[in-house]
Amino acid sequence: MNDKTQPPLLSVDEALDHLLHAAEPVQAIEDALTMDALGRVLATSITSPVSVPPYNNSAMDGYAVRAAELNPSAVTRLQVSQRIAAGTMGDPLAAHTAARIFTGAPIPEGADAVVMQENTKQTDDIVAIHPAVTTGENIRLAGEDIAAGAMVLQGGTHLGPQHIGLAASIGMARLPVYRKLRIATFFTGDELVMPGEALAPGQIYNSNRFTLNSLLRRLGFIPIDLGTVPDNLEATVAVLKQAAQEADVIITSGGVSVGEEDYVKAAVEQIGSINMWRIAMKPGKPLAFGRIENAAFIGLPGNPVSVFVTFCIFARPFLLRSQGVMNVTPRSFWVEANFDWLKPDRRREYLRARLEPGMDGVSRAVLFPHQGSGVLTSTVWGDGLINCPAGTPIKRGERVRFIPFSELLACY
Ligand code: AMP
Ligand code: MG
Repeated sequence: MNDKTQPPLLSVDEALDHLLHAAEPVQAIEDALTMDALGRVLATSITSPVSVPPYNNSAMDGYAVRAAELNPSAVTRLQVSQRIAAGTMGDPLAAHTAARIFTGAPIPEGADAVVMQENTKQTDDIVAIHPAVTTGENIRLAGEDIAAGAMVLQGGTHLGPQHIGLAASIGMARLPVYRKLRIATFFTGDELVMPGEALAPGQIYNSNRFTLNSLLRRLGFIPIDLGTVPDNLEATVAVLKQAAQEADVIITSGGVSVGEEDYVKAAVEQIGSINMWRIAMKPGKPLAFGRIENAAFIGLPGNPVSVFVTFCIFARPFLLRSQGVMNVTPRSFWVEANFDWLKPDRRREYLRARLEPGMDGVSRAVLFPHQGSGVLTSTVWGDGLINCPAGTPIKRGERVRFIPFSELLACY
């Protein structure tokens, strides 16, 4: 390819912006059992029909009292007039008496504080209390967690265990969620064989198939894995047609460079449209984005580290947004560099790095020594990526932007 036909170089931010605008979130809404909604995306915001807690209740095992009846500087003795366990309603508290009460039980009318059991001694039906309590002590107020009518879960939230628990706490047995995004994958390359088979000369294992499908599963998707596809136009077109029938998004690895053995571009063009992007990033310059019928198409590069990084930086936010997730941006953190990176590339680099605590207890970033785009060990050694801006040298002690893998492999 000469310069005239070279597609323009896009910045990472431009490419991401383009992808997120192009993402068409699934519209169909399903009613999921709350118990089964883990990992699904909430389709509408949820307003609480009830207050949580629904009534004032005791935060302790102890005695419900009127705080003003207690002597702040001496032992107070009160008659124990009733016993209120969680799940039962007491009677109004008679003057100058205490109610034996247990955690979670409703505060009886007239009581305004609970003395914890450890500060009391009961003999027959008389309880001795010291020290005293002040009004409101050890009482959980109705609605202190959630007021009835309050919006508690926002549409577009990826439901984690905590969201499921909160939904249950307001009595929701079912939740509206988006239908699951269907994602098809396939892997191009005549050199690829599956683990378990012997390698003939010139062959390598199809590791991208395992990386990519696992990345998708980690984000809660169930990929439709269409396997390895040989490097020829007919085979590539055929699998693309099938993928476009079965999926909302097609993701592939390899075959998007500009060599004669790269058929993905020609194949997508035959039945859809495709943009070949050269992204100003390392690893992972070539990225293809297109459409075949109703399916979006993302062609990741072939090099294993490029697949991992371009998936995390581009495909992950695109897929989450397509699934209806609002917040798709991984958090990154400033950390101190414990390395020199004095010959930066003209493209933004995502360096595989690890945080290591020093003698002073402060964690600093160190780099994997071999940053090649085929060196998959760097992704296992590292626990995140350093976002190294284009053309910017880094000196030991300077601040760098670190994106932990835990952020890139998570959905919220
Ligand atoms: P390509 O973009 O097809 O030219 O591939 C770039 C490099 O990635 C080549 O060295 C390929 O052998 C390698 N590669 C492509 N696909 C895979 C795969 N599925 N697993 C491991 N390596 C791959
Ligand atoms: Mg190839």
